[in-house]
Amino acid sequence: MSQRVLVVGAGLGGLRSAEALRAQGFEDEIVVVGDEPHAPYNRPPLSKEALADEVAHERLAFRRKATVDDVVWRLGERVDALDLEARSAVVSGEQLDWDALVVATGVSARRLPVAGPPPSHAAGRHVVRTLDDALALRAALSPSTRLVVIGAGFIGCEVAATARTLGCEVDVVAVDKVPMQRPLGPMLGAELQRRHEGRGVRFHLGVGVERLLGDGHVTGVVLSDGAELKADVVVEALGSQCNVDLLDGQGLDLSDGVLADDALRPLRHGVPVDGVAAVGDVARFPNPRFDDRAFRVEHWSLPTDTGRRAGEVLAAYLRHGPSEAYDAVASKPWEVLPSFWSDQFDIRMQSFGMPGLADPDGVRLLEGDLAGECVVGYHRGGDLMGVVGLGMVRELMAHRASLGRSAR
Ligand SMILES: Cc1cc2nc3c(=O)[nH]c(=O)nc-3n(C[C@H](O)[C@H](O)[C@H](O)COP(=O)(O)OP(=O)(O)OC[C@H]3O[C@@H](n4cnc5c(N)ncnc54)[C@H](O)[C@@H]3O)c2cc1C
Repeated sequence: MSQRVLVVGAGLGGLRSAEALRAQGFEDEIVVVGDEPHAPYNRPPLSKEALADEVAHERLAFRRKATVDDVVWRLGERVDALDLEARSAVVSGEQLDWDALVVATGVSARRLPVAGPPPSHAAGRHVVRTLDDALALRAALSPSTRLVVIGAGFIGCEVAATARTLGCEVDVVAVDKVPMQRPLGPMLGAELQRRHEGRGVRFHLGVGVERLLGDGHVTGVVLSDGAELKADVVVEALGSQCNVDLLDGQGLDLSDGVLADDALRPLRHGVPVDGVAAVGDVARFPNPRFDDRAFRVEHWSLPTDTGRRAGEVLAAYLRHGPSEAYDAVASKPWEVLPSFWSDQFDIRMQSFGMPGLADPDGVRLLEGDLAGECVVGYHRGGDLMGVVGLGMVRELMAHRASLGRSAR
């Protein structure tokens, strides 16, 4: 009997899972359902070079391996509900049964819940998650556009830098004390603020947004300290919310993505659900190299790492069913080394590990000069949990092997 794998989400995680299933020898049907109309494409350039230059699917699309040519791509369609017991899905109102399932639904951009014009591109309120978001934002930016970015995380700071290079007037508003405070800490955040300000970005930190001004289209932003900023365009860069509604009512822990074990099987009341895997931004799983707790990591490297792991575990399940051979694959120790990069003006930032796990007083300059090229180390107790480099790629790479818990 032919088997079917359903992959929900046609992003990087969905693509890599399909490729991994083929690489593991699964030859039957794979159906990938994605609610965007586009074949899988690369998101990081949407706030960086593509936003500065040209947002075009043909320049961003991933090259697909020939092994996934026979995959059924159902693009512009949605999986509305999943039944893990019955092994079925509702796809655009139609029932579709499956033998194994990959949940690679990613995250959506969070919106600012304040009064003002409606949260739409037409009203001048933007987010940057999808190609269509970036297309709309690019069309709204021109030299001297007054842009207010709300949120000073990576995406907010990247958009601010790109818009500034396009000649826009840029204000960034955030409740944090320095930009990128949570992932990088105060020392590096303050240095990056200095570099942004040197290029003309204005920061308003330690304040929230009270409301947006404008009737039909945004004209300004009122801050919680009473100050008013004029705006032609607002970008809401407030982080993400996980796309998990389709799994409601299945007994899973969906409090922050899909809680899974280290074989990426969702946990139902603590018990792994075989034949199902969570992949990419939406997956929360333990990574013993860094901690016993489960974390979600929204970095580009994770959909590939988790897609491979999911392909391996699901292919073993489909081939052997519940058996010793399957258990041997699912219980194999598995660890990943998260990595990310960010480009802001001429700053090339790269990181390995989990800097966010450092103690508050565990952040130290390891190499170079903070005002120039440098490597910063993030320690928890005596362990190096993460490194972030501004330039100094060779020196940064040299720290990779020492990252993680020494006692594991
Ligand atoms: C602007 C931007 C810049 C970034 N820059 C960097 C960077 O510099 N470095 C870095 O490391 N990472 C960066 N990232 C993060 C990186 O792009 C993500 O980690 C990666 O794209 C996650 O892939 P994914 O497949 O898990 O999710 P996604 O790429 O979000 O794919 C999930 C897909 O599933 C679809 N979907 C959701 N629900 C359903 C449903 N019910 N039915 C059908 N389809 C559904 C979604 O619409 C989406 O198309 C950036 C992200 C963004 C948005």
